[in-house]
Formats: sequence, C-alpha cells, structure tokens
Amino acid sequence: MVTTTQKEEATWYECEKCGLLFDAQDDARQHEKTCDAEDPSYLQ
Ligand SMILES: [Zn+2]
Repeated sequence: MVTTTQKEEATWYECEKCGLLFDAQDDARQHEKTCDAEDPSYLQ
C-alpha cells in the first residue's frame, strides 16, 4: 500500500513495506509491485 506524506510543502508517496519515498505516485506504485520487503523468499 502506498501512503502519502506531507513534507516541506511537498507531497511524497511512501512504500509501506520498506518506507522508501517517491515524489511521484506512479513511481511509488511501480516500486511497490516489485518491492520484496514483504517477501524475503523472493528469488530472481
Ligand atoms: Zn518498498
């Protein structure tokens, strides 16, 4: 789930899984799809 954060008059989008911040919601959503913070057994 991507959450929004207000910081220095700007809106940031935060990945709930790993806490990474993005300035674009699309970037955050795209990251979340591949974020493996919730799946430690993920193999590539
Ligand atoms: Zn993440």
